Amino acid sequence: MRETSDRTAALPRHDNVTRLQVAVEIACIAAAAALLLTHLVRLARAPELLRWWTPVFALTGALMADLGSGLIHWAADTWGSETMPVLGRRFLRPFRVHHVNPDDFLRREFADTNGDVSMVLLPCLVAALAIPLNRGWGHALTILVVAFCAVGLPTNQVHQWAHRPYPPRWVRRLQDRGIILSREEHRRHHVPPYVENYCIATGWCNAPLRRIHFFRRAERLVTRVTGLQPRDDESAFHDKVESWLGEPIGRNRAT
Ligand SMILES: [Zn+2]
Ligand SMILES: [Zn+2]
Repeated sequence: MRETSDRTAALPRHDNVTRLQVAVEIACIAAAAALLLTHLVRLARAPELLRWWTPVFALTGALMADLGSGLIHWAADTWGSETMPVLGRRFLRPFRVHHVNPDDFLRREFADTNGDVSMVLLPCLVAALAIPLNRGWGHALTILVVAFCAVGLPTNQVHQWAHRPYPPRWVRRLQDRGIILSREEHRRHHVPPYVENYCIATGWCNAPLRRIHFFRRAERLVTRVTGLQPRDDESAFHDKVESWLGEPIGRNRAT
């Protein structure tokens, strides 16, 4: 058996980012923040900002962001291979590493943590500028898109805070009130076989999705259509890490 410090050092880690990657990530975060601000100013100037359906569309956008975070997380945890070209190393491997070495996420800087989500949401924020605000449907759609992006943008930051033993006090308050993903809620995802609570923005969708066995049903459907088995790559990655360490790190074979 290895000593704890040896064991931690032997665990896989996230790839270090280059200066160019950091520069691109900072540019994406700045552009997304500027666009979000632009949308808020446009909405504030639009006639009759507050209508009875304004909170309905805002809440729907926030729920869609949380659901989206869960669907992407589930897809990355469950399907594909970390060795596949393009997406494997850049997109899927971080999810494999996060299960076997969750504390390594705390090492990632602000730009590295938030750059990818900003990059993904940029086209959505740009396209929303074309929605006319002088029509009822345009107003409602803009509120939905803005709420979706405002809640979606800090998803990875919220996820990182859920791993921090001592997050800032104001963050802790938001976590305790269930406004953003709490440590307790996310801890359930990190219990092998890692098949619960995939939603990591607000965590609001986790309980209802769990109740209707949403992801297990989706997996059965994917398997029926494609013949693929869920978490095959995850199991192979665990086997690889266990053979490096020479000791078990938890299993992830359940369905
Ligand atoms: Zn996961
Ligand atoms: Zn996590």
